[in-house]
Amino acid sequence: MSRIRPAAMSLGLLLALGHAPAVVAIPGPGAAAAVDGARIIHADQHPGEWLTYGRTYSEQRFSPLAQINDRNVGRLGLAWYYDIGGGRRVQESTPLVVGGVMYLTTAWSRVIALDAATGKQLWVFHPHVPRSADAHGCCGVANRGVAIWRGRVYVGTYDGRLIALSAKTGKPLWSVRTADYTKGYTITGAPIVVQGRVIIGNGGGEFGTRGYITAYDARTGREDWRFYTVPGKPGVADHAASDRVLDRIARPTWHGRYWKFGGGGNVWDSMAYDPKLDLLYVGTGNGAPWNGTVRSPGANLFITSILALRPQTGEYVWHFQEVPDDIWDYDADQQMILADLNLHGTVRRVLMQAPKDGIFYVLDRATGRFLSGKPYTQINWARGLTSRGKPIESRKALYDVTGKPTLAMPGAAGGHNWQPMSYDPATGLVYFPVSAMAFTYAGARRVTMRKLGWNTGDDFIALPENPQAVAQIRKTLTGSLVAWNPVTQRAAWRVALGAPWNGGVVSTAGDLVFEGDAMGRFCAYRATDGKRLWSVETHTGIVAPPITYEVDGQQYVAVEIGWGGAFALAAGQLALDSQINEGNVPRMLVFTLGGAKAMPPPPPRPHLTLDPPPITAGAATIALGEARYQSFCSVCHGDSAVSGGVLPDLRYAPALANPGLWRRIVSGGLLRSGGMVSFATELSPRESGAIREYVISRANQTKGQRATRPY
Ligand code: CA
Repeated sequence: MSRIRPAAMSLGLLLALGHAPAVVAIPGPGAAAAVDGARIIHADQHPGEWLTYGRTYSEQRFSPLAQINDRNVGRLGLAWYYDIGGGRRVQESTPLVVGGVMYLTTAWSRVIALDAATGKQLWVFHPHVPRSADAHGCCGVANRGVAIWRGRVYVGTYDGRLIALSAKTGKPLWSVRTADYTKGYTITGAPIVVQGRVIIGNGGGEFGTRGYITAYDARTGREDWRFYTVPGKPGVADHAASDRVLDRIARPTWHGRYWKFGGGGNVWDSMAYDPKLDLLYVGTGNGAPWNGTVRSPGANLFITSILALRPQTGEYVWHFQEVPDDIWDYDADQQMILADLNLHGTVRRVLMQAPKDGIFYVLDRATGRFLSGKPYTQINWARGLTSRGKPIESRKALYDVTGKPTLAMPGAAGGHNWQPMSYDPATGLVYFPVSAMAFTYAGARRVTMRKLGWNTGDDFIALPENPQAVAQIRKTLTGSLVAWNPVTQRAAWRVALGAPWNGGVVSTAGDLVFEGDAMGRFCAYRATDGKRLWSVETHTGIVAPPITYEVDGQQYVAVEIGWGGAFALAAGQLALDSQINEGNVPRMLVFTLGGAKAMPPPPPRPHLTLDPPPITAGAATIALGEARYQSFCSVCHGDSAVSGGVLPDLRYAPALANPGLWRRIVSGGLLRSGGMVSFATELSPRESGAIREYVISRANQTKGQRATRPY
């Protein structure tokens, strides 16, 4: 029977087999017309499809497919691959698969439809995001995926638009501006569609923004409701769904002139939905700026919190704040998984999250009540949690405006970040990538809100000036794949991965867990004990999560490769030696049993020669250049002028030897078409020149250490 294609079966036969009639949807892009709430809620009746970001509204990312399993996974081979191209390499997308068509997103918010069995391109939608938008976001021009509803494909673009496309043709049907990138708002997360409303948030917690999410009518694009996550200026009405709860609960937790800094609380990634409770869950981000002394005393609701809202109206139902007065950029935006767990003999409807703060939380998702929480990695900002889930903060990780550096664990990249996790109901384990990487925070003495560059109220100069801290942090740098038992709050197994910042995860009924890693390996592990059963070298760092799907009775496993994201961009000397930076070719790779296509050969390794001009500037100029580099350049080109391999390493830049060319790039915007905007509004000619002198000094230091090195 399994060899008969569903499309060839009669409706009567399908019904006799117990399938829902919707299975007979015509294969191809037309099948997307059948995607609605009922189909997503009953996703297990269509196990071959991947209908929404987390496959189901519960965001479990567990696939019931078992054709590929722990006994035959060794026969997995490449079925097809698709070169993404497009100039920027970071790829974070979860592709959706409906009717044998794969809908994926890429850097710069492009959407591509492919034949999921062959990789043949059906259409490409290019939203033409202005390249200048790159400088208004924190972590690269990534996009994590689309939503599909009744024949339409929805994408949030980096520059703040929400666009509805025809699933058949890729042609835009409507477009709304939901956020303004020139004010520091960007979109990297996937939308969710609930009850005919497309819901989308935005990022910008490092750029002085005020977080919100908005619901739009999926058919027309008309705005339905908006919920602000932090209060605005007193006396200025929002006329939003959040009005009452902000005044009643949130505003009393803010003091001073907080609205001048935006406040943060951005909903930049995770959302989940429980159709029985009819609750939409959203995670909110850090306070803006990070430095709480500058921002406002108090808990600052609803930063770094989980909110439960009514999807029809945006009405507030409950909140749980994980890090009151968050000063570490911990965020609660990470994936939330909804599941029913047997806790001490009682089945509880829970919400689980492993956010950046290093603690695995289990909440009652009907009430928001805290059930349990334990560190899944080394932390030093809290000594534990109270019985209500409030952190018992440790003085060790606190910092103020004196500029005194403080080492906190986890650091700003998080113990676990956006890389999706997976819950296997059979093993009862949650699989996710864990990174140990401390960070040195130092509150800036003076905070001026800049139009370009980060506004954190933190001084990124702390790290390079402190070789001891660098050595200490480098010692902490590890990455692992963890299988977490949410009932006992302990790891069932851990696999060391050799480097931090690894890929998202999918688990399957084949007793398998798939994950790609920073070193470019794509692996299958046995779900019960973490034994590595299969792996392939892709020659490119992986951060995106795999998915699995079925077309014509054949199961496939797909993963987008392409290195990038916050840690990859900014880690600089911390990432050195631990990441693969050579190559980085963005691709969609799709595997199947017996797949016989040859893996594309590794790209030629760049051999850049380090040939800086001699140091002629004085120590004061170099120090000024270092301070400005760390403030304006380090978050993209890497800490201490060491690139993580995503954007050019300036120590090797030809413009180092050419002050005129340097000026035309940094102040004149010569390379704006690649995303490198002019910094003339932020940097004087003297400062721009000092940055060049600083990079020359760093290049000479490196040259003293080794003659040539690719990165
Ligand atoms: Ca953040």
